[in-house]
Amino acid sequence: MADPILIAGGGIGGLGAALALARAGHPVRLFERAPRFREIGAGIQLGPNVFHMFDRLGIREAVAASAAFPRALVMRCALGGQEVARIPLEGMPARYGNPYAVIHRGDLLEALLDACRRLPAISLETGRTVAEFAQDAAGVTLRFEEGGEARGAALIGADGLWSRVRQLVIGDGPPTVSGHIAYRAVLPMAEVPAEIPRDVVQLWAGPRLHLVHYPLRRGELMNLVAVFHSDHYAEGWDQAGDTALLWRHFEGTRPEVRALLARIETWRFWVLCDRDPRRGWTQGRVTLLGDAAHPMLQYLAQGANMALEDAVCLADQLRLHGDIPSAFAAYEALRVLRAGRVQVTARLFGEIYHAAGVRAELRDQWLAGRDPAAAREGMAWLYEKPSWPGAPS
Ligand SMILES: Cc1cc2nc3c(=O)[nH]c(=O)nc-3n(C[C@H](O)[C@H](O)[C@H](O)COP(=O)(O)OP(=O)(O)OC[C@H]3O[C@@H](n4cnc5c(N)ncnc54)[C@H](O)[C@@H]3O)c2cc1C
Repeated sequence: MADPILIAGGGIGGLGAALALARAGHPVRLFERAPRFREIGAGIQLGPNVFHMFDRLGIREAVAASAAFPRALVMRCALGGQEVARIPLEGMPARYGNPYAVIHRGDLLEALLDACRRLPAISLETGRTVAEFAQDAAGVTLRFEEGGEARGAALIGADGLWSRVRQLVIGDGPPTVSGHIAYRAVLPMAEVPAEIPRDVVQLWAGPRLHLVHYPLRRGELMNLVAVFHSDHYAEGWDQAGDTALLWRHFEGTRPEVRALLARIETWRFWVLCDRDPRRGWTQGRVTLLGDAAHPMLQYLAQGANMALEDAVCLADQLRLHGDIPSAFAAYEALRVLRAGRVQVTARLFGEIYHAAGVRAELRDQWLAGRDPAAAREGMAWLYEKPSWPGAPS
């Protein structure tokens, strides 16, 4: 049997890569530092572009079984309450070949894990933190923080925003702190105030803040993400959120917004970070994938979507190219501009959502003049089926 491809990190990107590679005939060893695989933070939006990846990974049915399919993306003013923009989602399959959906992160992770566990070529190893690697002409050797080593043909760093592998490959230090904080929570749908629509992704945009809500688990739950600007900074993820701080920022917003926030007792908070796009993810037999390669703000809801596109593209390049370094170099060249466009555009969307004063008035005027079909068309660069050499047509 060939030497395995090693993967650092068992989030959505790492598991997607394991699955794509094993389905293409490669043995894989995946190392996750946590004692078990888990996703926190509740909801995730799925653009039509990622459904093509689900087909390639063989998990479309598992995803569709637990996803919710909202009717529209709606933006409202968090101060005045008026609708600012609406993109109907019913037309997505006709235009982009696939729906727009929302799913619980745990359900997406479970679909990936379940598919990985069915493939004997994949070894999933938890409690193993990749600390260092050394490569030579024939392969890569990893050293783990807990002790021990592993040897493989190549290494994929899918170890997220604070990637250790990125520091060894690029060495560009910590990610950029955006100054935006996200508070996240999930509410049983039965507790959602009656005036809140249950079948849309709705974003309440206000000065230096917004609230997004959408249904999860076939409509049994409501996912809430409240974002505001703050210098409050805690490295890492999933801290317990200070509710008083959240309320201070959302003072003066619509009663519907505050009624929704008031239903939540416990929030978790995330300090949102990203990086400027850059090349250099690949060094011979080592490359980066997902947030390790191109961390982005969540304003286009595409970080995990991009990680899964990376996974499938990487497997296609390995099939197409005779040697691993050439395949990894081709993969990076194919992905860097697409992911980079999302990184850059996500920052812009954040500014649009959080505009204040005259800027907000200009935004509303601009968006009000848009035809909904044209608005949907404006996302074609992102939602159309991505293509690259080696992908089936
Ligand atoms: C508020 C918010 C909302 C979002 N909404 C969306 C959305 O709607 N749609 C969307 O597509 N994306 C969304 N995203 C982005 C998405 O969550 C990320 O882009 C995605 O989870 C990245 O996946 P990943 O596998 O690359 O990294 P991660 O999910 O961070 O996984 C990395 C894994 O590597 C492990 N690890 C770390 N270091 C090591 C090591 N040294 N050795 C071994 N293992 C290690 C970690 O424990 C972790 O399991 C959102 C993000 C935020 C913050």
